Amino acid sequence: MKAAVYYSLDNIMIENLPVPKIGPQEVLVQMKACGVCGSDLMEWYIKNRVPLVLGHEPSGIIVKVGSKVKGFEVGEHVFAHHHVACLTCRFCLQGAYTLCEQFSKTHLEPGGFAEYFKIPRLNLEIDTLKIPSDVSFESATLIEPVGCCLRALKKAEVQPSDSAVVVGAGPSGSILTILLRLFGAAQIIVSDFIDYRLEVAKDLGADLLVNPERESLIDVIKKATDGRGADIVIVTAPTVNGYLTGLELCRKGGTLCIFAPTRPEDFLRLSPNKLFFSEIKLVPSYSTSHIETRVALNLIKTKRLDTKSLITHTYPLERTSEAFRKAALDKECVKVVVLND
Ligand SMILES: [Zn+2]
Ligand SMILES: [Zn+2]
Repeated sequence: MKAAVYYSLDNIMIENLPVPKIGPQEVLVQMKACGVCGSDLMEWYIKNRVPLVLGHEPSGIIVKVGSKVKGFEVGEHVFAHHHVACLTCRFCLQGAYTLCEQFSKTHLEPGGFAEYFKIPRLNLEIDTLKIPSDVSFESATLIEPVGCCLRALKKAEVQPSDSAVVVGAGPSGSILTILLRLFGAAQIIVSDFIDYRLEVAKDLGADLLVNPERESLIDVIKKATDGRGADIVIVTAPTVNGYLTGLELCRKGGTLCIFAPTRPEDFLRLSPNKLFFSEIKLVPSYSTSHIETRVALNLIKTKRLDTKSLITHTYPLERTSEAFRKAALDKECVKVVVLND
């Protein structure tokens, strides 16, 4: 089978790999669509694991079912989550599924950017969702990223009537914009350096758009909130500057949601004095669990979340390298999806 093997961001090769063999409790899926995630573009995050097949936002059709599999059949359309928690450890029992030891050890094989992938037993049992016929494979690739955004907004305890700022209008920033509307935020302000992305954010329901190259984000937020600052700031841009700005934008007692990781060697200088007297809460949110993926599918199925305006570019599997270049370098795009027709 063909698979896109990642060596580095500028070296992704289409190679021939064996079709994964399945055990009695596993299934084989023909990939139909797989989203390119922001984390797929972070070379520092991937470089110790190369070469590998990336892709953790896949959907497809079951083509082979192990002899002991119950509840799944050949021909069914599915989304498969790449990481699943054990459900019984101390983290899981407290609902912190993404911190579970098992979570990051579980994987689809070899990954979503391949003609076929295998769903291991645990992933199949805990977080493989059947996609109804009126949900397209492309739309289903958004289940995982929407899940990540849902979890962040739940953790940040967004309240109806909040003023919310989204720093960075890439795929996650755009999904957060839609979800903030659904959560009842009164005012959604989106900032990005790329005008194309701001235009999309406007269509998705952002109230105010800011390109910090042209105007001061802090001035806009102060003006929009009677000088207080925003109730919630979600930083999706993985830079120290993004977080420094985010802190400045938060009101006293507000929440700064850490949605994207910076490089491990990057540090933020924080003043405990300022944090103490402002009572700003720092809320990191890593990945998503089987709880939010089900909600995400429901939002997509009921069209509460419009996937059409989010997916701006698609590429065939053979051109995965171009898809990555578009998402990483060009940036005149929101969600980029790789297809296998
Ligand atoms: Zn992702
Ligand atoms: Zn666990």
